[in-house]
Amino acid sequence: MTNKYMYFIANWKMFGGLNSLNSLHKVMKFFKTFNKNKLIKIIYCPPSTLIRPMSKKLKKSNIEVGAQNCHQQSSYGAFTGSVNSAMLKNVGARYVIIGHSENRQSGETNKLINLKIKSALKAGLKVIFCIGETSIEKRKKITKQVLVKQVKLGLHKIKYNKNLVIAYEPVWSIGTGMIPKSKELFETIDFVKKKIKNCKVLYGGSVSPKNINELKLIKNIDGYLIGGASQDPKKFIDIIKKTYS
Ligand code: PEP
Repeated sequence: MTNKYMYFIANWKMFGGLNSLNSLHKVMKFFKTFNKNKLIKIIYCPPSTLIRPMSKKLKKSNIEVGAQNCHQQSSYGAFTGSVNSAMLKNVGARYVIIGHSENRQSGETNKLINLKIKSALKAGLKVIFCIGETSIEKRKKITKQVLVKQVKLGLHKIKYNKNLVIAYEPVWSIGTGMIPKSKELFETIDFVKKKIKNCKVLYGGSVSPKNINELKLIKNIDGYLIGGASQDPKKFIDIIKKTYS
């Protein structure tokens, strides 16, 4: 049982059309009663196409909306297919995920991530900054070095502030059903917290109703970034309920 302030961030990835918004009713109804005595923050990060309609739908609910990525340039420009932070904010996003491993894998560098974080903060978005090691890096036992590098370069010339939360997401855990051993996860989160004073650190990677009872015992976790399970309102609600039971 916890009564800590926790984040539950839903990353819908490249899933969902307008009809997917119907699934929000269940979560809104649940949150209305559940939230009374608890400090909990729910943030939905749908594909960009759904940010506007979703933020309209969630307007009176206290559930916030975020984007999954942004362009690094603050102003408008000739970048076909891209959307910048100001544009995301304009349609209702209050948060943005930056540095997700699925984007790192398709070429996003630490330097680019740094520019994106700067432009998002400048536009007034709050940033969910993802870091995490691959399975090879884990096997080589260089997780800490990898995380230090990601944090150092990603946050270069950025003072840690309350508009930034870190999501520790081991790449080998995303979408695989595998999660780190509890002791290891506690130690890694602790390590990140010591590197960045006063930061909130979330865990992401295959969080589900099946493993949340194990995860919730790890006391230094400040919330979860949830991919697959967040697309099913029943599973998402179950994760939140179990965290507080
Ligand atoms: C994610 O996409 O950030 C994520 C953690 O995905 P999943 O929960 O599906 O592993």
